[in-house]
Amino acid sequence: MRGEYALWFLGVALAFAVLEAWLRRRSGRGYDRSAALGTLGVAGGQILFNGLAGIGIGAVYMAVWSATPLRQPLDSAWSWAALFLLFEFLYYWQHRLSHEVRWLWASHSVHHSAEELTLPAAFRLGWTGSISGLWLFFLPLPALGWHPAAVAAVLAFNLRFQFFLHSELPPRLGPLEWIFNTPSAHRVHHSSNASYLDRNYGGVLIVFDRLFGTYARERPEEPCRYGLTEPVGSNNPVRIAFHEWGRLLGDMTRAGGPVSAVRVALGYPGKRPEGHHHV
Ligand SMILES: [Zn+2]
Ligand SMILES: [Zn+2]
Repeated sequence: MRGEYALWFLGVALAFAVLEAWLRRRSGRGYDRSAALGTLGVAGGQILFNGLAGIGIGAVYMAVWSATPLRQPLDSAWSWAALFLLFEFLYYWQHRLSHEVRWLWASHSVHHSAEELTLPAAFRLGWTGSISGLWLFFLPLPALGWHPAAVAAVLAFNLRFQFFLHSELPPRLGPLEWIFNTPSAHRVHHSSNASYLDRNYGGVLIVFDRLFGTYARERPEEPCRYGLTEPVGSNNPVRIAFHEWGRLLGDMTRAGGPVSAVRVALGYPGKRPEGHHHV
């Protein structure tokens, strides 16, 4: 059944990606082909590495779920609603810290390396999330008694929903902007403009950004500039996947001792933008 959904999604995703490419060309935005090939390479690598890591991570999730006496029913809409909300909350913090802590940013920066925001860029995901430990954030869910397969289903829904957010074309969506992460909100997230940095971390919902003060709306007078503040300057998938690790490990070795090295790894990537308040 789940394989069927995945195929369905891939078909719809491909159709939308082709439509977007056509619309982009028609509107004169163009399409950077070598960047698209770079994205394809990064996507292939992440499917391989995250797929392999997923086997080990799945085993840890199963072990945690087996160890807890708690059990959440999977035939109750309330249980699924609670799982979804909790997942979104954890996702918000996982994503926010992925921008605020270099050890996590080394993996997540890959997703922000695209300088054109197109649907396929959604698949430009890091190869090393398992090493950064991004999966640790969601361990409370099996620990609270949700079966790992249910957690995986909510994660798949979150990622598939977010695929459709990676586009420069859709307008703002009115009242939906209050509750949901939308293409407009996610364009701001992918922008390196100073006033847009470190904003809109939500997955499916945007409510936690509103709650924790990280929401920013897209403003017509401030067009989005996509990509990293310091671009990778390459479309080679291996370079894209390890660019930030190279910088981080270099800074850690130069830190002059293990304690300072750990401080570098847990520090903020780059200079904090002015006027931003962090917890
Ligand atoms: Zn991000
Ligand atoms: Zn994104």
